[in-house]
Amino acid sequence: MILILQKNTTHPEADALQNRLISMGLHAVKEATQGRISIAIISSIDKNIDTAAFKSLPNVEAIEQFSQKYKLAGKDFHKQKLVIDIKGATIGGEELAVIAGPCSIENEAQIFKIAAAVKAAGGKFLRGGAFKPRTSPYEFQGLGEQGLQFIQKAAAQHNLVGVVEVMDEAQAEIAANYVDILQIGARNMQNFTLLKALGIYQQPILLKRGFHATYNEFLLAAEYILSAGNPHVILCERGIRTFESYTRNTLDLAAIPVLQELSHLPVIADPSHGTGIRSLVTPMAKAAVAAGADGIMVEIHYDPDNSYSDAQQTIGFEPFQKMMTAVQSIRSMVVN
Ligand code: PEP
Ligand code: MN
Repeated sequence: MILILQKNTTHPEADALQNRLISMGLHAVKEATQGRISIAIISSIDKNIDTAAFKSLPNVEAIEQFSQKYKLAGKDFHKQKLVIDIKGATIGGEELAVIAGPCSIENEAQIFKIAAAVKAAGGKFLRGGAFKPRTSPYEFQGLGEQGLQFIQKAAAQHNLVGVVEVMDEAQAEIAANYVDILQIGARNMQNFTLLKALGIYQQPILLKRGFHATYNEFLLAAEYILSAGNPHVILCERGIRTFESYTRNTLDLAAIPVLQELSHLPVIADPSHGTGIRSLVTPMAKAAVAAGADGIMVEIHYDPDNSYSDAQQTIGFEPFQKMMTAVQSIRSMVVN
């Protein structure tokens, strides 16, 4: 249920109403857009409660019901597109957010070299894995906290926004000291305990779609983070498992406009994991931007073949630069 407050309602009045609802045992969230304040009651309300009675609460002008199950991830309450701004780099606004970097942080020199290439090509976000979710326990698992120290320094040197995946609560707590965005990988999209724990962080959460997840499940996973108190979630389409085995995953391009239709959250695409094949990364990056993605995440390396992980889908600096020029021109057609 959404309480639309009267136009002249002040923030102290809205806060008082929100606190009153909270003291009634309800989970109430406040939102102000275009000079209008609304309060969403997101906890399930007992069917026997007369919801019309809420209309007589102070400052309430109208009551709306949610039409979507994902109350905070949808558009019923947050009607305006979310623009996330981190140190002047935006996701969800007019500019195309480009998140690039190695699959894994391998050593200090590697991440510094790659950070310089991201910057030179006009990217504003530096990715790099420090905790790697590898299929085999015998494969490179990442440098852990040392990797975080390296990416923090490399990002700072080039004024980039650092992005690192975390796989559990303890890693989130450590990574929050070093990077600006916490990534939740496909394998953890429905790790509800972890999703709930992300509510306390200031950092936006880059949530990747599970290989098996429907749009509904993906948006409800985002809802776990939002309802736990972190309003900044970025949705990432990274390919799903289908019967096609030629590609590593099938990048679901339709997910991009669908999620844009259903949610106010920014939507980006990862053509690297989405295809698993180097030659397909640029074509699918272009397609994702044409389909309306707010950004792309790509794996790059100066020596792609010798990357410690995901070598076969990692692109070199030159192709990355070319890709950047192409996607920027596609972006300008999409937004204009
Ligand atoms: C990654 O981005 O490094 C990653 C492991 O991706 P995903 O969770 O989409 O497999
Ligand atoms: Mn990877």
